[in-house]
Amino acid sequence: MITQLTYIAAGALFILSLRWMNSPVSARRGVAAGIAAMVLAVGGTILSPSVDRYAVIAAAMILGTLVGVPLAAVPITAVPQRTALSHAFGALAAALVGVGKYFTFSSSELTPFITGAIVFEVILGFVTFTGSIIAALKLQEVISGRPVTYPGQNFVNLSVLGGAVILGALLVLDPSQSWMFIGIILLALLFGIMLVMPIGGADMPTVISLLNSYAGLSAVAMGFVLNNHLLIIAGALDGASGLILSIIMCKAMNRSFTNVLFGAFGQAAKAQTGVEGPKTHRSVTAEDAAEYLKEAERVVIVPGYGMAVAQAQHKVRELYDNLTKRGIDVKFAIHPVAGRMPGHMNVLLAEADIPYDQLIEMDEINPEMPQVDIAIVIGANDVVNPAAKTNPGSPIYGMPVIEVDKARQIIFLKRGLATGFAGVENELFFNSKTMMLFGSAKETVGQLAAELKKN
Ligand code: NDP
Repeated sequence: MITQLTYIAAGALFILSLRWMNSPVSARRGVAAGIAAMVLAVGGTILSPSVDRYAVIAAAMILGTLVGVPLAAVPITAVPQRTALSHAFGALAAALVGVGKYFTFSSSELTPFITGAIVFEVILGFVTFTGSIIAALKLQEVISGRPVTYPGQNFVNLSVLGGAVILGALLVLDPSQSWMFIGIILLALLFGIMLVMPIGGADMPTVISLLNSYAGLSAVAMGFVLNNHLLIIAGALDGASGLILSIIMCKAMNRSFTNVLFGAFGQAAKAQTGVEGPKTHRSVTAEDAAEYLKEAERVVIVPGYGMAVAQAQHKVRELYDNLTKRGIDVKFAIHPVAGRMPGHMNVLLAEADIPYDQLIEMDEINPEMPQVDIAIVIGANDVVNPAAKTNPGSPIYGMPVIEVDKARQIIFLKRGLATGFAGVENELFFNSKTMMLFGSAKETVGQLAAELKKN
């Protein structure tokens, strides 16, 4: 009874948690609700009469904590690969429960429905496990992040998955054939690797949220196997939100799902990166750039991955304060895939207490860009690259970008003329209205802020 009550409370809190995560204003509450829901879920399960081996549970919790605490301490730039690892662990747990249940259930318990649910759980769980490990290794650059492709790859991949599904269907008809079950596990493990190897570049975050969705669906199946309603609710929320996030990210990068899964992003990147014509850029000092800024009425700041690497967000806050003190209207333009994880810029700017209402989404800020006096681009590159609109041969072609090229002037704060994540050169560096302020963003933003403080 207590277990069921805690499950109801946890289910409600999981739903509220997701709801609150929708806005930076309520996101902290969302995290707290999620933690509370998890504590209730685990606590309720431990209190359930069917649980008795507390020593084993305690040992597993201690082990999990020993692995989890250092994982939580990774720098924010490594969060995507850390997230991939978390999905790998979650999915492995779900898959192992499926394996355990298959081998411990009696033949009368292995009804077609339960066997089907176990097959579903095990396929998705093991696919997510190896897929997420490969994704983490790629993002950590332990193995090459580039897509690995060969002719006929999609056919081979689909055959492996098809093999697992056919074996699964046969196992439902005759659950006693444990060799089939082992075959399903091996094929699923292999398919996870083969699924993620051909994916690379900017498609990685989409794949990670897709794997998140698979892990959730695997948990739903586990819920059916264990007859646990909370697992079904939490898994469905996880599965649906992962899928929705994948769709949002695909939209933000103008990529279709099938393209992400079968398209091998980044293959053309090498061929089409050049900027034609004369390549001269104008470099300025912080002092000069500050003089231009003092004349401006409307400024838009576009943060990107370089701001995260340099940990420049607190200096950006100073810059924002000093500009607004001068009566200049300052807004932040947030691209949905700026940085290296969804919401990356929001998290950093929130950490520096930049008012949320000054963070403007790309679609909303773009129509205002022609009225902007100066766009300050801090460590962003791909998300402002006009090649996405003008160069059909570019690998980022079609990705919506923040249209800083429409502002009257642009100041780029970066260390040199290097390309960004997609490896595409940016013609804006050589535009006559662009000023390049070279240096690590923490220093250059600090210098700008200091100059603006002076009279
Ligand atoms: P980019 O990766 O396009 O560019 C970042 C720029 O920052 C580089 O050109 C680099 O130039 C500069 N930089 C690096 N270090 C510093 C520093 N210390 N100080 C100042 N500048 C620095 O970043 P964007 O945010 O514009 O775009 C994100 C890209 O990442 C997109 O292609 C997106 O698709 C992809 N992506 C996004 C994910 C997400 O979920 N948000 C996840 C994975 C990929 P220089 O070396 O010259 O300084």
